[in-house]
Amino acid sequence: MQFNKFLVHKVSPNTQVLITDAGNWLAVSQSELKSIKERKLGLSLRKKLENKKIILTSKNKKALLHDYSQLYSHLTQGISLHIINPTMKCNHSCPYCYAEAPPVESKGSDMSIETAKKTIDFIWQSPRKNIVIEFQGGEPLANFPAMQFIIDYAAKKRPRKNIHWRVVSNLSLMDETIASYFKKNNVTDLCTSLDGPEKVHDKNRPLHGGSYKKVVYWLNALRSEFDFGRIGALCTVTKYSLHFAEEIVGEYLAQKLPDITPVPVRKIGRAKHNWDKIGYSPQQYISFWRETLNCCIQKTRAGKPISEQFSLMIARKLLGEKAPYHSCFSKPCGAALMQASYQPDGSIYTCDEGKAERLFKLGTVEQPYRKIFTSPNALNMLSLSSSLGLLCNECKWNPYCSFCPVMAHSSQGSPTPLLYNNADCTIRKAQFSLILKKLFSKDRAILQSWVN
Ligand code: SF4
Ligand code: SF4
Repeated sequence: MQFNKFLVHKVSPNTQVLITDAGNWLAVSQSELKSIKERKLGLSLRKKLENKKIILTSKNKKALLHDYSQLYSHLTQGISLHIINPTMKCNHSCPYCYAEAPPVESKGSDMSIETAKKTIDFIWQSPRKNIVIEFQGGEPLANFPAMQFIIDYAAKKRPRKNIHWRVVSNLSLMDETIASYFKKNNVTDLCTSLDGPEKVHDKNRPLHGGSYKKVVYWLNALRSEFDFGRIGALCTVTKYSLHFAEEIVGEYLAQKLPDITPVPVRKIGRAKHNWDKIGYSPQQYISFWRETLNCCIQKTRAGKPISEQFSLMIARKLLGEKAPYHSCFSKPCGAALMQASYQPDGSIYTCDEGKAERLFKLGTVEQPYRKIFTSPNALNMLSLSSSLGLLCNECKWNPYCSFCPVMAHSSQGSPTPLLYNNADCTIRKAQFSLILKKLFSKDRAILQSWVN
């Protein structure tokens, strides 16, 4: 018998949680912790520790290897998410835009048909048969001809790949022709932005004539008239949004959206220049997020189910449930490992956020696929976000978390973060700690129902 490495987290005065590197955890009482420290284990405690692989024996060695292979299964799968930006332009002028999208009237910034073709030819070199191609931007619908070319060209290309198409759009340029084309070509996985009720949404996402009315119109029309399935939405939280947690949750319920993802505004792209107007401290975000979460719990308990997505992701990890892969919640993260972002000029970046910072450029679609994803930049990214050798290694949340090199570079000037002062790290610590605490409270049943 041998003790595995574990770190201790206090949930309440008499409950401590022991967490291992593979993410297994066990709650013990104060007196059990004392016995562990003194290495005086009774039979029942020994059994519990063995089950959670906190002590290692010949019986649980294989199970531990299985846990590690699950935790790191994404290392060997190849890129599944290819994000194509058909244009960098946008008809909105959101103050937090990380892509710093220029206005639609500006010249340039569109992907040409020739580059669109080269991009698909490049993606086709991927060893994976099943891939997701996601359109982002700017506002991708601002260059619909390139999107249409890509979808049609991919359909004709042989050998075939199984493509799941996804579009991330503000929906304001949607029309019946585009909606029918999407429906006909199975492009029905859509994600939009809804920052809350009209006053919050339109303040955060300025558009001549109002953005809220358009997004709400198309959300409903795509579902009812075009029979699109589930349409997702992201909610970016600015300083202005902080006062409206309850109203924002109410708006999501009113629009029949089953979950809410309150994304903190981050110091990148245009948000950097507007930080005084829209930014806030990590603590301010944490209180907003806590209020949003509690509101979602209350509504769910009252028979109006709505889940808060960060809590759901964390609860899944802590409950050991297999979660859908999430690039920014894996270690190493998915940058240049599970996703890549293709720009209108054919350059390739590590990930969607990476496109905002020149440092994260990997190469161009003119180069061979293998060369791009085994390049020093790609491997450095992998090494960095695996957080080996950083202080994360001594953090109890490390099995469930990775830091973001792009955000560290954008907000702190280096892709290696200064953890003591890193907003993402402060937020993650608070989130993991609160969700673990909730698993010991009556809210556990609600979190479990979201997971189920
Ligand atoms: S980023 Fe922060 S919370 Fe996440 S593992 Fe590193 S130290 Fe821990
Ligand atoms: S670098 Fe940051 S934004 Fe990009 S995939 Fe990793 S965690 Fe996510």
